[in-house]
Amino acid sequence: MKKATRSRMDGVALYSPPRDEVAIDLSDNTNLWGAPPSALLALSHPGASVATRYPPAYAEELKSELARYVGVAPECIVTGCGSDDVLDCAIRAFGAPGSVIAYPEPTFPMVTTFALLSGLRTAAVPLRDGYRLDASALLAEKADITYLCSPNNPTGAAFSRAEIERVVSEAPGLVIIDEAYAEFSDWSALSLVSGYDRLVIVRTMSKAWGLAGLRVGYGVGAPSAVHGIAKARGPFKVNALGNAAAIAALRADEAWMRGVVGEVRDIRAHLTEQLRAMGLEPLPTDANFVFVPIAGAPSIAARLRQLGVAVRGLPHGIRVTVGPWPTMQTFLEALARCV
Ligand code: PMP
Repeated sequence: MKKATRSRMDGVALYSPPRDEVAIDLSDNTNLWGAPPSALLALSHPGASVATRYPPAYAEELKSELARYVGVAPECIVTGCGSDDVLDCAIRAFGAPGSVIAYPEPTFPMVTTFALLSGLRTAAVPLRDGYRLDASALLAEKADITYLCSPNNPTGAAFSRAEIERVVSEAPGLVIIDEAYAEFSDWSALSLVSGYDRLVIVRTMSKAWGLAGLRVGYGVGAPSAVHGIAKARGPFKVNALGNAAAIAALRADEAWMRGVVGEVRDIRAHLTEQLRAMGLEPLPTDANFVFVPIAGAPSIAARLRQLGVAVRGLPHGIRVTVGPWPTMQTFLEALARCV
């Protein structure tokens, strides 16, 4: 029988980390302090039209609020159904079958999936010392698209301004900087956007803003770049509830978000110290998670899950979301039973 799907889908699997209920879930880097109060209020009295009418096609009002938040003009913003969608559409807009996307490895794995689905070839360039960017090796790929995640998932550290500026200024094609965790970091590459037409910074309301379930992401770039992504994306990708909640949060709860970020930064420093006291060597982090290199990480993650604590078990270590201190204590106690 003739196959119904394109052969390039053969190498693509469904996203399937364990997601069953667990007492403490530190596996997906969401906001463990909850959602912004104004967003919850916006969700509580939605009105029938939220269900019966289409949402705004390209989320103009949301774009204006995001533009104000990041300090650019609204025409420099594109939104999407999570930043996943923005990444997928950016790759589709700027890549053609056979073109090359280069990225450091390890990094956010959905990028490989989106690239393969759009027929691109992938060039994975290993990080140095497990977490440092090798800008020369990345640039040597002369890729049509270069993807950098900063702070990088799963390792945690942000790349330096000098390294990122070098990649942005020397890369021959589009540069995508995934800043899903930028709010937790000391710096963002946003100020570079005005100087480069072929730079898109991808961000999300899923992490610091606590709205992962509502699927609101965005890209920031030159108007020509984000316009291309919007065309590849199509209309109505931010649903009416996500649209209302994100607008409310951006208008009323930036201080709430900054408060959470402050707590995350304090707790991640304390968590890092405690992990070191156990003889472990957590990587430096600028995100709301900590990567702990450890032998047998997948089985340690499975044992932690049995003890009621979910972390992400990766080939070379576990990745732990930073949450309120009592959840960190429970995690540390469980970890001490596993290592
Ligand atoms: N980029 C990175 C680096 C991520 O870690 C994630 C989610 N884990 C995403 C993008 C996608 O997030 P969302 O689609 O919820 O915006």
